[in-house]
Amino acid sequence: AVPVLAIVGRPNVGKSTLVNRILGRREAVVEDVPGVTRDRVPYDANWNGRAFTVVDTGGWDPDARGLAERIAAQAEVAVSLADAVLFVVDAGVGITDSDEAVVRILRKSGKPVVLAANKVDDQRAEAEAHGLWNLGLGEPHPVSALHGRGSGDLLDAVLAAL
Ligand code: GDP
Ligand code: MG
Repeated sequence: AVPVLAIVGRPNVGKSTLVNRILGRREAVVEDVPGVTRDRVPYDANWNGRAFTVVDTGGWDPDARGLAERIAAQAEVAVSLADAVLFVVDAGVGITDSDEAVVRILRKSGKPVVLAANKVDDQRAEAEAHGLWNLGLGEPHPVSALHGRGSGDLLDAVLAAL
């Protein structure tokens, strides 16, 4: 069986956009309105000749009470089914309670984690990514899922973790 990469993170951080970047095609649903992606959606991916399954996650109502807990619960299921995890944070927003809740799950899982600092669209935004060292998950990989900036380096790190 091919290895499984789970993409987790808060609504609207750009998970589905990053999935499309990985796939090289627009298959995952990207919405300006958060919470559109169904709970877990697998896609066949390939990078540098290596096949893997990438699982997009979502499906939360962003206005629901206890959002952080729902995100964490969803992440827990996705992570348990994965060989490695790509944790996506919006570098411009920085670390939120929901991100911290996901970090606890990632730690508990013991699975390899690659940290994506998304929405780093230009050189100026690189500094924002640096703050994500505070998550304690190692190096934040700055990326712009939207424009592709940094995606090659991020995918190399993902393959090393898979
Ligand atoms: P998800 O809820 O985590 O799956 O987030 P989406 O992929 O649906 O993206 C949410 C919004 O963020 C959309 O409007 C995207 O176009 C936008 N977005 C995603 N990645 C980037 C990025 O790298 N830079 C910028 N500026 N916007 C992004
Ligand atoms: Mg999505």
